[in-house]
Amino acid sequence: MNELVTELVPVRGELASVAFKRSARARKISLRVDAAQGGIVITLPMRASRKAGLSLLQTHEDWVAERLASMPQALPFVAGAVVPISGVGHVITPVSDARGGAWVAEGRIYVTGSPEFLSRRVADCLKRLAKQKLTAMAAQKARQAGLNPKSVRMKDTRTRWGSCAPDGTLAFCWRLILAPEFVQDYVVGHEVAHLRHMNHGKHFWALTETLTAHRAAASAAAEHDVLGHVFRRDQKTRRQHDECAAAD
Ligand SMILES: [Zn+2]
Repeated sequence: MNELVTELVPVRGELASVAFKRSARARKISLRVDAAQGGIVITLPMRASRKAGLSLLQTHEDWVAERLASMPQALPFVAGAVVPISGVGHVITPVSDARGGAWVAEGRIYVTGSPEFLSRRVADCLKRLAKQKLTAMAAQKARQAGLNPKSVRMKDTRTRWGSCAPDGTLAFCWRLILAPEFVQDYVVGHEVAHLRHMNHGKHFWALTETLTAHRAAASAAAEHDVLGHVFRRDQKTRRQHDECAAAD
């Protein structure tokens, strides 16, 4: 049995980590909530699709949500848990006697210090990564369009992954660092395009298309509810992104 990939999937509005595993022995798709893994594990027989796995998850959403709720967090930052960074699973790995806080290397998040601060250190590390990556991404895309954001901030929102204020401040939820890269690219491209067009008109979309190649993929992910948490949770966001998905 080998691990395929870890994704973030919304379960009743909470982002949960889902590890897909391929098994030659499995006869049918199975689903479990694994506290040690820090999330949901979906086992797929060789020929079953990831989509079929997700649909099994959807039909058992209540059961899964209950199980997740009984865990400390939907995505707990505990030793041994798998946390997706840019959609790729990383194992939280405590390092007993080293200094340096937390850092990411070779599929692991190494964390030093005493266990009671582990969760916060991992979160701080992810926030730092998010800030670096999303700021660089936004700067690069803004430069490409001859634009200049006033500032780029990280927020702890749960309903919106990105926003653009009228004064030119871009804000992103730091949890965007957990999502697959194409989603990050799309969200950043979308918000940078708002620096010029504060609407979803055809000029806005024309500019967005030059800044990201992933609009269709990100919209498809939203449609299949992989990112329902991002795109559909609150009314305002839903309206905005329905509009986004509909405009062509
Ligand atoms: Zn928008």
